Amino acid sequence: MKARAKKGLWNGGCLPLGYDYDPGNKKLIINPKEAKIVEFIFETYLKEGSISKVVKAVNKKEYKTKNGKDFIYTSTRHILENHIYAGKIKYSGEIYQGNHEAIIDERIFEEVQRMLNQNKKECKSIKQNKYNFLLRGLLKCGYCGSNLTTHYTLKNGDKFFYYKCTRIQHRDKTACLSKPLPAREFDNVMVESIGNMAKDNRLLKRILERSNRVVLNEIEELRKEKIKL
Ligand SMILES: [Zn+2]
Repeated sequence: MKARAKKGLWNGGCLPLGYDYDPGNKKLIINPKEAKIVEFIFETYLKEGSISKVVKAVNKKEYKTKNGKDFIYTSTRHILENHIYAGKIKYSGEIYQGNHEAIIDERIFEEVQRMLNQNKKECKSIKQNKYNFLLRGLLKCGYCGSNLTTHYTLKNGDKFFYYKCTRIQHRDKTACLSKPLPAREFDNVMVESIGNMAKDNRLLKRILERSNRVVLNEIEELRKEKIKL
């Protein structure tokens, strides 16, 4: 594999958006239609400096991933970080000159990497919130069936947490009719309901069988927190 990388040969795996594989010449060749999408993603990120904004813009254009899906945060980030687009091959941390044509100018690619690293540092401080969301990863949107994820807004310096439909997150407000759900209030209501259900032993047993341990631990943490309050 390392020898292949040194020769600038693609190591296989998932074919990146923007390229097709030419088995005759054993190299990646540009797929012009897809390469346009890749260019749009890099240009939009340079302009906006935000992956979330790129996700919205690219989905608004109805562009699809190599697998024909809508873009999400991770797939978009993956494209922005892929050295393939600057004509390189990355193998176990080392970067080699590829034998395929670049889609993105090397200087633009490097500028995007610099911006991504900068934003990564800023994100870390945001992620360090001590509040454990009880229902994170478990809630589905009642309107469109997408997952709900947690977000916050700042109100007079206080963080206000809520669950939000990922379809809105990945597209725009018109993509789903749902409204953001206040997370703490909603979690509290759920803890109370679960508490009431706990009085019914048979029902509790069934819930316990279905729930995984992680969730139960989080409920316990939340109860303790509630007692402290
Ligand atoms: Zn929805």
